[in-house]
Amino acid sequence: RSAEFLDRQQRRESHARSYPRHLPIAIDSAAGSLVRDMDGNVFIDFLAGAGVLTLGHNPPELLDAVRDQLTRLTHGLDFPTPAKDDFIDAQLSMLPPSMRDTTKIHFCGPTGANAVDAAIKLCKIATGRGDIISFQGGFHGSSHAAMAVTGLVEQKQPVANGMPGVHMFPYSYCARCPVDLRPDTCAVNCVAVLERALRDPNGGIAPPAAVIMELVQGEGGVIPARAEYVTRVRALTRELDIPLIVDEVQTGCGRTGTWFAFEQYGIEPDVIVASKGLSGMGLPVAVIMYHERLDRWQPGAHTGTFRGNQLAFAAGAQAVRMVRRDDVLRNVQERGRQLAARLGPLRSNPWVREVRGTGLMWGVELADPATGRPVGDRGRRVQAAALRRGLILEVGGRDDTVVRLLPPLNVSADLLETACAILVDAITECTT
Ligand code: PMP
Repeated sequence: RSAEFLDRQQRRESHARSYPRHLPIAIDSAAGSLVRDMDGNVFIDFLAGAGVLTLGHNPPELLDAVRDQLTRLTHGLDFPTPAKDDFIDAQLSMLPPSMRDTTKIHFCGPTGANAVDAAIKLCKIATGRGDIISFQGGFHGSSHAAMAVTGLVEQKQPVANGMPGVHMFPYSYCARCPVDLRPDTCAVNCVAVLERALRDPNGGIAPPAAVIMELVQGEGGVIPARAEYVTRVRALTRELDIPLIVDEVQTGCGRTGTWFAFEQYGIEPDVIVASKGLSGMGLPVAVIMYHERLDRWQPGAHTGTFRGNQLAFAAGAQAVRMVRRDDVLRNVQERGRQLAARLGPLRSNPWVREVRGTGLMWGVELADPATGRPVGDRGRRVQAAALRRGLILEVGGRDDTVVRLLPPLNVSADLLETACAILVDAITECTT
């Protein structure tokens, strides 16, 4: 029956659909970290709706909150409502105390790219400047502006995507250092390149409206930025009065073991972009949260019909309460350590170039041992082999060479163990 659905929808749906090409299942229902296809096969879901299902599929308490809200109000544009109020309280309460009183929230919905666009507009208006600095390998979304600051060229080229004044700099990616330096001896030269460009009046760059970055590049292949790199970028942007936008669409809402990844770097961004995990269960909502001093745009500067999804607000507020009550962030940290320990031995497989990640955001990068070059087809083969064994995984990175794990944040130790065993088997099958 899955095959029937796949076939029928392939005939009627856009050629641009993507996930079912590599994960050929039709989904009937789901609960927690498991999904059931149309034939009754059950899979462990370590894609989790591209990282949105932080509390898994259909968490009963979030369903209750949504049911309750459903009978009151479902759509509220940007009018004040009790559900929105509750959601704002919950989100601000998760910020570090030093940021709570000075942070404003703007609803951009429904998706992450909308919020990235809003962040760029906010910073342009607030600074009166036009240029934006972003990083190679970064991903910020598929709308035109979000794509323009995205550092993965594949999607950009066919549509000649670009935005005047976008400058892309090397990301802190030590395993791929363009000048073969090693972290222990390097003075973080990738930051030095950026610093030189920003300080040098003849560097070819006008003072930019913002720097936008991910602290762990997700789609780019699960690449955590080096701490020293991030603190230097923050110090530099602060000194030069350049707003720093941290894109926490994927890393946010607990994914890396703290509510936001920036907390682990000991920095405070000027603008946070958040979306995926905000409702805890995949209802669409996207926001920017920013320092009040940037709040210089006029009413109506960034509108959109779907900015008032009351169901997402109700779920999101309840999700925050559950994250606190159930100590979900501790689970992320513990399960993250379990994952690291379980996947670590893969490093002795000559096809495995790196195992890296943080919290519950992990990647296994595959490369041909003969040439040392990344080979994407192995990533896709591992994905297929894992699916046959009952595990849904994502791939990413350049040429899809990185097998990615994004489980629900409340995944159990047992299920994680099973998933890791499947992944290890799948990798072994595809690399021998
Ligand atoms: N930023 C980051 C870091 C992302 O990972 C994504 C989605 N993968 C986006 C932005 C875009 O979000 P959306 O797909 O909801 O537009």
